[in-house]
Amino acid sequence: MFDSLSDRLGGVFDKLRGRGALKEQDVRDAMREVRIALLEADVALPVVRRFVDRVTEKAIGQSVLRSVTPGQQVVKIVNDELIETLGGDVTPELDLAASPPVVIMMVGLQGSGKTTSTAKISKLLKDKQGKKVMMASLDVNRPAAQEQLKVLGEQTGVATLPIIAGQQPTEIATRAMQAAKLQAVDVLMLDTAGRLHVDQQLMDEMKAVAGIATPRETLLVVDSLTGQDAVNVAQSFAGEVDLTGVVLTRMDGDARGGAALSMRAVTGKPIKFAGTGEKMDAIEVFHPSRVANRILGMGDIVSMVEKAAEAVKVEEAEELAKRMEQGKFDLNDLRTQLRQMQSMGGLGMLAGMMPGMKKAKAAMAASNMDDKVLLRMEAIIGSMTKKERANPALLNAKRKIRVANGSGTQVQDVNKVLKMHQEMSKAMKQIKKMGGLKGLAAMFGK
Ligand code: GDP
Repeated sequence: MFDSLSDRLGGVFDKLRGRGALKEQDVRDAMREVRIALLEADVALPVVRRFVDRVTEKAIGQSVLRSVTPGQQVVKIVNDELIETLGGDVTPELDLAASPPVVIMMVGLQGSGKTTSTAKISKLLKDKQGKKVMMASLDVNRPAAQEQLKVLGEQTGVATLPIIAGQQPTEIATRAMQAAKLQAVDVLMLDTAGRLHVDQQLMDEMKAVAGIATPRETLLVVDSLTGQDAVNVAQSFAGEVDLTGVVLTRMDGDARGGAALSMRAVTGKPIKFAGTGEKMDAIEVFHPSRVANRILGMGDIVSMVEKAAEAVKVEEAEELAKRMEQGKFDLNDLRTQLRQMQSMGGLGMLAGMMPGMKKAKAAMAASNMDDKVLLRMEAIIGSMTKKERANPALLNAKRKIRVANGSGTQVQDVNKVLKMHQEMSKAMKQIKKMGGLKGLAAMFGK
């Protein structure tokens, strides 16, 4: 899977050398090659453009962590962006939260692997989730289609709706709903008819079936080997029916990965499953992070950079704790703390992170602080010089105007940050008086 893309990307990052901040020209050179690699992998052009822009923007000027090389750091940025492009760091689950029978309608072109995927997903639900599943083929176009599903049902131990010759898809759907209710089936899988191309009759048929069965999930099955075509097919289906997800088949043979990488961005629909072979258990829940890892083939480097970043955070936190204990707390420290808050999940964590700061918290609540405010505060502090951060008393009216302009805010915003810092350092001094961090518990208001 994705061999050629992995190979192409592999060489790019070794060329990034030097230390300190990532240099713009180096990043741009590397991204030119990433761009070519993605285009050769048949990734849709707008997706490639956005990908490269976002990685470039994140990488340029970023300071390189201790104990990793610039190349390794960019690998991590590319990895994160791959995950985003593939659908983010979540695993899209099937939504089965409805009163049974929950209907999953499978749609797609002929030969895409629809019938096979119907049986594979049924088996997965039965074996892994203990669901009682029934499958029904609504494909009256292809002569052996219903028979094929029956055989797969026997192979996987999943019940199929008995075949009655001559029925129309909507009649079969109605009968399937009745049978599923009667037999207390949890999940009813409807394998709709395919066509060679997207046509109106097919779309109408799907809509009629959806009207009868009100599917909770409508999964489009596409063949990843068809690359851009798969994405085009998905786009036309998405325009006609309410798709809830995509099943990408033949990922076992897909060395390029273009369809996988374009699908989410172009259709807005998550890839929920990947077909990886002809056997009935050759299907995987689609985990964007795992797939990104396979595309890049550099999982070791990614986790190394993550660990290095973690180590820096721990060092910073320890340093901060030490300074707090000594009653020192300048705006540099406040900035560090703001960053930590963001990386630790924003303001939700605030209460736990600011011991005893009832006043500051009240001030924040009064100023309607949300996570955007954190970013703005950081921008304000970032517009100060290092000296000003270490000694806020330097900030006279003229300097405040400069800082406000530099951060795109107002002088009153700058004042708010300074006020907050004052409150905090006052509290820090109290902590010191109460016997350092050990006295903290008392300040939690316990
Ligand atoms: P349908 O016309 O869309 O229902 O397609 P089928 O389910 O009949 O699949 C067509 C062919 O593709 C069959 O020979 C399947 O075994 C094969 N196939 C389906 N999914 C995969 C997959 O993920 N990997 C591979 N290698 N073959 C697959």
